[in-house]
Amino acid sequence: MFTRRMFFKILAAIGAGSLFSAESEGTAAQWLNVSAASSTGHLARPGDTYFEVPAQAFGVTTTEQWENLLDDLDAVELIGRYVSLTSAPDEVSRLTGRCPFCRHGADSLLVDSRDDTYLCTDCLAGGHALDFYARMEGLSLPESLRSVGKLMAAGVLQGKRPRLKRFHCIIEAIDRFAHESLICSREGASARGWLNHQGITAEMVEKFSLGMMPYALSDQLLERLRAVGFTPDELEQAGVDGWMSCLADRFKAGESNSTLLLPVRDREGDCCGFYEQSFGLESALAWSSHVVPYGYQLLAPHRANQLVYCTTSGQTVPSSVVLVEHPWDVVLLAQEGLHQAVYVSPLDLHEYHDRFNRFLLQVQRGVWPIYSSDLSVEFMRNLCRLSPHGLERVAFLFLPDGTGFSEWLRREGPVIGRARLEDALSATELLRF
Ligand SMILES: [Zn+2]
Repeated sequence: MFTRRMFFKILAAIGAGSLFSAESEGTAAQWLNVSAASSTGHLARPGDTYFEVPAQAFGVTTTEQWENLLDDLDAVELIGRYVSLTSAPDEVSRLTGRCPFCRHGADSLLVDSRDDTYLCTDCLAGGHALDFYARMEGLSLPESLRSVGKLMAAGVLQGKRPRLKRFHCIIEAIDRFAHESLICSREGASARGWLNHQGITAEMVEKFSLGMMPYALSDQLLERLRAVGFTPDELEQAGVDGWMSCLADRFKAGESNSTLLLPVRDREGDCCGFYEQSFGLESALAWSSHVVPYGYQLLAPHRANQLVYCTTSGQTVPSSVVLVEHPWDVVLLAQEGLHQAVYVSPLDLHEYHDRFNRFLLQVQRGVWPIYSSDLSVEFMRNLCRLSPHGLERVAFLFLPDGTGFSEWLRREGPVIGRARLEDALSATELLRF
């Protein structure tokens, strides 16, 4: 079956750019080889040695375009152009129809709309929707990718984009509601007091569109969303119901309701979800969510991996950045006049290696504030695993033990802070020691 893993191996081997031009005979043969393997039900597994080439062999942006295309493709729409499909009564994500390859039973072809695959229970033909298309049209896989790309671009195929757009609209509406709750509701008073205490001005609250979503306002939010035309089904699919029951559970368990929401936007400027920051007066910066509690996890993993939290709402990342430990640091540092702080993921190269690598390819320089005690053998080993391009873009600023970056910047002042950032030690210099 055509899988995402296989897709990347092939892209890595032939270079993603070559998909846009006429590929060589040899390349086409490789694709056909994979296509043939897929029709016999071969699944790519870790350790397969089709095309083991390092990921940095291809351009990130081009790869992302192709990843987005695979995500946007809708198997039901694509296969539905050839076969009349009907929903299974018990399961809406599974559709059936007559298999065009064997034409046996009237409902032997199963199409799964969740992972965009098909399978015939009679002749056992199966794979990704793209395999189906390639087989029906007699095309190689690169030809079918290009062809489907053109159909999507021309609007002949809608794919899942309208659903994704609708999802962004729901998150956007929640963002507005949460922002209003923070700035004018009775429930927002303690959060406003805490922000004041942290030195965050109303202008900054506006700039980052900070919000809060207390349990007491959840009915009001649902009413608002329904009033502007979102159906109960849409809200459920977008995870709103699940989120509300989480808020209810937290409330019943007596947990603190004191959480700020920090909306995250993608490069197109669409709101994708929220980071959380607790504002319990005693806990100060003790807790913040690293993985977004709501919104973001409904996106495809590669789309979530592209998200960066920064002052420009993710649309343009500054060319020189400071990598920070918590999303909230971005707000604190912007308040101090430093607008180049970004939150990519927790500063853990072992766990988030690929995410950092991808991010570093977008910037000229990323300064990582660090303690000298963090430089363990394990850390250096993980650092060396970054691609050469990633490695030459990282630099380190050594902080005094026990001092957080925003605290350090406040103490040093913006002028000295900026000068020290300029002098940060590059990773290649560090590795030479
Ligand atoms: Zn069949």
